[in-house]
Amino acid sequence: MNLKNRLAIVTGGGQGIGKEICLKLVRSEAKVIIFDVNEESFNKTVEEIKAIEGKILAFKVDVTKYEEVKKAVSYVIDKYKGIDILVNNAGIARDSLLLRMKKENWDKVLDVNLTGVFNCLKAVIRCMMKQRYGRIVNISSIIGLRGNIGQANYSAAKAGIIGLTKSAARELGRYGISVNAVAPGFIDTAMTSQLDKEIVEKITSQIPLLRIGKPEEVASLVTYLASEEAGYITGEVIRVDGGMAM
Ligand code: NAP
Repeated sequence: MNLKNRLAIVTGGGQGIGKEICLKLVRSEAKVIIFDVNEESFNKTVEEIKAIEGKILAFKVDVTKYEEVKKAVSYVIDKYKGIDILVNNAGIARDSLLLRMKKENWDKVLDVNLTGVFNCLKAVIRCMMKQRYGRIVNISSIIGLRGNIGQANYSAAKAGIIGLTKSAARELGRYGISVNAVAPGFIDTAMTSQLDKEIVEKITSQIPLLRIGKPEEVASLVTYLASEEAGYITGEVIRVDGGMAM
């Protein structure tokens, strides 16, 4: 994809899927700005990407804090005179069965995974509407499509992202802005690395492609959806899951 002179914000871009999204975007010649809370990981990613001459910056931004997001987005728009791409990737999981789920873990997961998407989307759309151009890609999950034991908070947030994506696509299409969701399956990142080997084997056996996904396989689709070439796709939810949720 050619994303020359395009400016992208990637939330949670310090590690995992977000880091691979940043890498693919800079390889397509976009300028990338990471919004992430984990300074240690985003500093490493910035160094790594600068070493391959990628144009990248990172700011410590908590997507749950609306004023913080607004301030950071205003700074970016003032400095670069626009914003073309927003990838809402920051997310967390706090799993437990409903009966044991603490209210604070319900709130936290909804706050980061869903309200965080609203906050960033709200902060960029005025500028994208004025430009009559924008690409917004929201990272949902197959768990938002089909639910999962022990993930009521996470699945509610990820399903919420799908509703938000479709409404935003309907509202913003007339301004040349596309809004899509990507629903990864089981992907090899820090988020999934704590699972027991036996659980991983059981999950893998249920995936038609019989393997866990790689972060770069999600990033390839995100990069396509962020490109001009994907301009006639909006309001879509696309799975990258090895066939797991079909
Ligand atoms: P990850 O490795 O945990 O990376 C997520 C990044 O987001 C981390 O750097 C994290 O910082 C940051 N972050 C957390 N809360 C934030 C906040 N409030 N504001 C800004 N940044 C924040 O996760 P991942 O596995 O790459 O997942 C990326 C996205 O894909 C998430 O939305 C996730 O739900 C989704 N997804 C993942 C999988 C999977 O199998 N991995 C499957 C489906 C969907 P900390 O390290 O400090 O938390």
